[in-house]
Amino acid sequence: MIDAIFSPEALAEIRAYKDPLYASRLAYELISLGVWALVLGVGVVPLYAWSGRMTARFDRRFSSLRSAPIVRTVPRALDRIWGGPGWGAAVLFLIVLEQANMLAFLPLDFYFGFIHERNFGMSTQSLGSYGWDYSKSVVIAMVPLAALAFGMLGLARRLSKWWLIIGGVGAFGLLFSATIDPYRSQVYFDQVPLPPGEVREAITALMRKADIDFKDVLVEKTLSKTVRVQAYFAGKGPTRTIVLNDALLKELTTPEILAVVGHEAGHVHERRWLGQLGSTLGLLGFLYVIELLLRLVARRGWWGVKERADVRTLPLVFVVFWIATLVISPVSGAFSRHRELEADQFALRLTGDVPTFRQMLIKLARVNKMDPDPPAWIVLKGWSHPPIRERLEAIR
Ligand SMILES: [Zn+2]
Repeated sequence: MIDAIFSPEALAEIRAYKDPLYASRLAYELISLGVWALVLGVGVVPLYAWSGRMTARFDRRFSSLRSAPIVRTVPRALDRIWGGPGWGAAVLFLIVLEQANMLAFLPLDFYFGFIHERNFGMSTQSLGSYGWDYSKSVVIAMVPLAALAFGMLGLARRLSKWWLIIGGVGAFGLLFSATIDPYRSQVYFDQVPLPPGEVREAITALMRKADIDFKDVLVEKTLSKTVRVQAYFAGKGPTRTIVLNDALLKELTTPEILAVVGHEAGHVHERRWLGQLGSTLGLLGFLYVIELLLRLVARRGWWGVKERADVRTLPLVFVVFWIATLVISPVSGAFSRHRELEADQFALRLTGDVPTFRQMLIKLARVNKMDPDPPAWIVLKGWSHPPIRERLEAIR
């Protein structure tokens, strides 16, 4: 059946496109291993010493700021939250570590995120636009890290039960993170409301049939960056928006668009409490492991650490997080692939149109160059969607 979807030439092109991408996944893990071995082995001590020297130099040069009116309240407030001076060195240490880590992956990121995508006609992005997006992702990664170092360690310095407090706040945040979803992708793409017309009317009627409220249908302008077809629901309840990208509107017919929207609607009715309970417990467990690591490193005096909540322990925390992710992704991926097949079934019950759904999957596979036969290990490592062959066979 797949042979009818892809010509031998198209299949050969998919192999040429995908096989290096799979190899790159292995390369990423190996580089991570190397980077973390280097950081823990020889990086922590000199980097921390350097961070201390730099912040001391900054303090000396700008000591007048500490007595300047109004401005002085900022460092004083930060000192108070941290419980003394020294937060500058901690934050600088983490930011430099994060930048060095990103730099280690920059060649691979650039090759596979830009050159390889362009070589196979998947990316339409200019170098400038790619660079701008990359810079945004650097800042987006840096801000939570600096906040984490400052907030988490600041709290941990005075409370041994800090992990319960941050875990509680985090669990609360998890509950509401879906509500701010609609704003997340707007960092990278412009979105405009779908104009009134046949497609909007058909979607509205379908959602009424599925008994799902939504705020708006938006078109995400991605064609200037990628040819890939994509759709998703963002937010929930009063903030739920149906987002279709311009590539999808260009490639698919109205019934095929309904098949896509029907699939996304299938995710709305999923039981979430089990996943939410799992992530809450996972978060609490992980924070408690951090507390154990903080104690362990202080007790052993690794990297010159004498007190419990020291920023020099965080690289070890990142290593534990990396290993935990490697272990958990296959499990969460398996659950996710199961939910995708169920969402397909939901769409079929909603639209009652199997041939169109099949046609939609085939177009998706062609435009997005989906691999009908990925190696088992790459799927098991944590693919969120089943391979296209499996989805087609499941709706037969
Ligand atoms: Zn899905």
